[in-house]
Amino acid sequence: MSETIFSKIIRKEIPADIVYEDDLALAFRDVQPQAPVHILVIPKQPIESIDRATDADAALLGHLLLVVKRVAAQEGLVKGYRVAINTGEDGGQTVFHLHLHLLGQRAMTWPPG
Ligand code: 5GP
Repeated sequence: MSETIFSKIIRKEIPADIVYEDDLALAFRDVQPQAPVHILVIPKQPIESIDRATDADAALLGHLLLVVKRVAAQEGLVKGYRVAINTGEDGGQTVFHLHLHLLGQRAMTWPPG
């Protein structure tokens, strides 16, 4: 896959408001927040989208969800939150490096737009 802006954020070549980091994952605030809390959780290893993930990524994908849970607790999202993975053109994906949106601190509506 070709490199995205998120690779530069991982390498700290461009600034981001990082809220969590470990060997496998990075979490940082979205530059255009759609909720009072809007954080992106990404794998450091670039995977284009969830559609490109393989069985070999199973542990990493599980880890990303646990990072979401950890960051949600860190942010005090005790009333709940939404996790979204936009995938491909119809899914509304604009950055082709897998990312989990963590949205919270407001009531979400369903269905999403
Ligand atoms: P997607 O539309 O692919 O699901 O989500 C991409 C997200 O990345 C968008 O919510 C967008 O605001 C965010 N984003 C794009 N470029 C940057 C950036 O340079 N820094 C940060 N923090 N967020 C970005």
